[in-house]
Amino acid sequence: MTTSPDWAGAVKMLDGADQVCLACHVRPDADALGSMLALAQALATRSAVVLASFGDEPFEVPAVLRFLPGAGLLTPPAEYPAQPEVMVSLDASSIDRLGRLAANATAAGQLIVLDHHASNAGFGALNLVDPRAAATAVLARELIRRLDIPLSQDIALCLYAGLVADTGSFRFSSSTPQVHQLAAELLSTGIDPGVVSRELYDRAPFAYLGMLAAALRRAALDRGAANGRGLVWTTVTRADRAPACLTMDAAESVIDQLRRTDEAEVAIVLKEADDGTWQASVRSKELADVSTPCAALGGGGHVRAAGFAFSGSPDAAITAFKRELDRPA
Ligand code: 5GP
Ligand code: MN
Repeated sequence: MTTSPDWAGAVKMLDGADQVCLACHVRPDADALGSMLALAQALATRSAVVLASFGDEPFEVPAVLRFLPGAGLLTPPAEYPAQPEVMVSLDASSIDRLGRLAANATAAGQLIVLDHHASNAGFGALNLVDPRAAATAVLARELIRRLDIPLSQDIALCLYAGLVADTGSFRFSSSTPQVHQLAAELLSTGIDPGVVSRELYDRAPFAYLGMLAAALRRAALDRGAANGRGLVWTTVTRADRAPACLTMDAAESVIDQLRRTDEAEVAIVLKEADDGTWQASVRSKELADVSTPCAALGGGGHVRAAGFAFSGSPDAAITAFKRELDRPA
């Protein structure tokens, strides 16, 4: 998407709606859920009825995101209007990323798409898509500003969590002066940044250590992959999580350990869900585009952070990924 966002058009649609239905991508991360709950709480200060959801079944907020305020506005997909009058999709690069709510988005009277994925082709009637934005939270903040709704601490905390998550705690190159200015604005509401980093990154049940140890012990380095720049990968299986009944989101941060590997430009963690299907988290450092190979395998994401789903063996998925990665552009 290269056209500039029609903020005024979006404000008009939202101002005129009696009910606004929000949705973010399945298995939401802090940017998806944070941006959605921020906008939901902002709109709820108006007279409109606000519903927020994501298309996962069972419908459960990931354990690490339960500290985000505004969960009272969440509605399970089964109770979501089949044909929303006005619907807003957040942080979803394509309509299928809405999972069970994709059909509702197709049937919506008016669909606003708020997103920062470069691959977003603009599947809404109105598209607020800006790939230069470090997080969807940046765009959610802009929309809230345009709606002339003041930032409460709860709204700011949700936006801050999204900003922290998608900038790697302000470590990635996406952490521009504007990003830090937004962080300053959000912090000036009085929220505690320590709460966000502790909840998102610095806590886990004791059993997490065993799961992490098992995953790291299996890590494999392929120095020749990624056109000789190296690839490191591992799995987090159902069996790793089973002894302590850890949920799938316990596996989310394993990629942050793997991607440190000096000898590898690309890191992949293959996470087995409870139903035996797999989800791949893929990261690169500064040279490889991982979004194109992920898209070729049915997934997507950003140039340096992407993913795809598959069923079958991890070895077959890695072989297929390497083939796509090394394909000449
Ligand atoms: P993560 O590894 O943190 O789950 O995802 C990293 C990035 O890749 C995010 O921008 C996320 O939206 C995207 N992504 C992860 N899995 C998938 C997938 O299965 N399909 C698509 N289209 N994008 C994905
Ligand atoms: Mn995002």
